[in-house]
Amino acid sequence: MVLDTLIVGAGLSGLSTALSLAQQPQSLLVAEQRDRVGGNITSVEQDGFIWEEGPTSFQPVPTLLELALALGLQDELVFADAKLPRYVYWQGRLRPVPMSPLAALTTTLLSPVGKLRALAGALGFVPPAAAGEETVADFFRRHLGAEVAQRLVAPFVSGVYAGDPQRLSAIAAFRRVVQLEAAGGGLLAGALRARQTAPKLVFPAELPRPPRGALGSFRQGIGMLPQAIAAKLGDRLRLQWQLQQIAVTPQQTYQALFATPTGPQTLESRSLVLSLPAHTIAELLRPLQPSASQALAAIPYPPVACVVLAYPDAAIARPLTGFGHLVPRGQGIRTLGTIWSSSLFPGRAPAGWQVLTSFIGGATDPEIAQLEPSAIVAAVHEDLRQVLLQPAAEPKVLAVHLWSRAIPQYSLGHLTRLAVVEQALSQQPGLFLCSNFSDSVALGDCVRRGQETAQVVQAYLAAAR
Ligand SMILES: Cc1cc2nc3c(=O)[nH]c(=O)nc-3n(C[C@H](O)[C@H](O)[C@H](O)COP(=O)(O)OP(=O)(O)OC[C@H]3O[C@@H](n4cnc5c(N)ncnc54)[C@H](O)[C@@H]3O)c2cc1C
Repeated sequence: MVLDTLIVGAGLSGLSTALSLAQQPQSLLVAEQRDRVGGNITSVEQDGFIWEEGPTSFQPVPTLLELALALGLQDELVFADAKLPRYVYWQGRLRPVPMSPLAALTTTLLSPVGKLRALAGALGFVPPAAAGEETVADFFRRHLGAEVAQRLVAPFVSGVYAGDPQRLSAIAAFRRVVQLEAAGGGLLAGALRARQTAPKLVFPAELPRPPRGALGSFRQGIGMLPQAIAAKLGDRLRLQWQLQQIAVTPQQTYQALFATPTGPQTLESRSLVLSLPAHTIAELLRPLQPSASQALAAIPYPPVACVVLAYPDAAIARPLTGFGHLVPRGQGIRTLGTIWSSSLFPGRAPAGWQVLTSFIGGATDPEIAQLEPSAIVAAVHEDLRQVLLQPAAEPKVLAVHLWSRAIPQYSLGHLTRLAVVEQALSQQPGLFLCSNFSDSVALGDCVRRGQETAQVVQAYLAAAR
């Protein structure tokens, strides 16, 4: 039998593509190498604790909320209070990130000179960019000054990409912000213009609209989302099927060879969606499209460890009300940042306990992958002791999850690499890529991208009939 569509990879991108296509009259299979769906999304419930070992929250954009509604998860949605403060650890103290113009004036995170420089830049007093592609660090230093770049932007970049602002491409990693510059007048004028012209977000009427800046999850963790999609897909899902090889037939269909628990299996399909990390696609495409393979192999995925520690209330040296804290490099703290998980969402810890989810490693510290789990825990605990804990605090270790290849880095040259891939794939009708290395790593964008890919696949199949 020849399938209409074969989707490989059951992370949120692949599952969203599959769910959209499953509503069409066509034959469809989804194959995933692990024994579970969700990819990076890894929610765990144990001993009265609920924690995440991958993404910890999502922006509740309409696409994601519509999906939750369609899956019947509306009563499971939880939102963190949008007003919870976020902190940056700077010169031995946690300092709130300024979230309003007044807070920006009074923050102790920036010096008076740093504030003036940021204001002048935001109003448009900005030197022209040097020739060539600009890094994230250079772009923000030019616009808002060295202090904002080091103390606010760099830790934010750690929080989203576990990335290095000196290597990330501004236009690839912060396209919307960079585009604010285009009409001149500085980032502030650009932001005001963008706000006036942006299409209005239409939130589902059936749900209370989340407040601006709120973050979302589900009662039992983000994993409820992929699990609900998997339930809808039913027997169209194959777990522990690892794609090993792709071939194209003379009829322009795809033959995919899988390693499975019952031995090798081959599937044939008119269209093939690879919803996999770039380095995996690079291996699979090497014989078919060497230039695309080379471009994809050049996308770095540095290692990041997620360390989830619980502490009794008495071990915490300060009120734990907030989103969490980020740490710029050079502060004597190795951990990139910590989400105060039990302050963010309800029901994450039994009474009397707090859960802290820390990320360590990333593009500026890939050596983390060489450490034993116990050494990673010790490093994180020592950092937390310095920032948040009573001296004698001892952790209950819930998880140490080393993602040896975690988040794709949109480094200098990223857009050129994507253009090479696109050009190569135009020679390969029926083959589609749908992954987080293309234009955003955010979960809401994975859903959007999956739905868009489904439309393109559907149009391809209709035209090919
Ligand atoms: C530590 C961490 C923290 C993050 N935090 C956040 C956050 O708080 N908020 C947010 O919005 N985003 C966050 N992200 C980003 C977000 O989680 C990802 O962008 C998103 O989950 C990617 O989904 P995906 O489906 O594109 O890829 P993946 O989730 O990587 O899915 C790819 C799937 O392909 C499978 N696969 C691989 N090779 C094969 C093969 N040969 N055959 C079959 N299957 C295969 C994998 O097992 C996997 O299931 C975080 C990411 C990480 C790693």
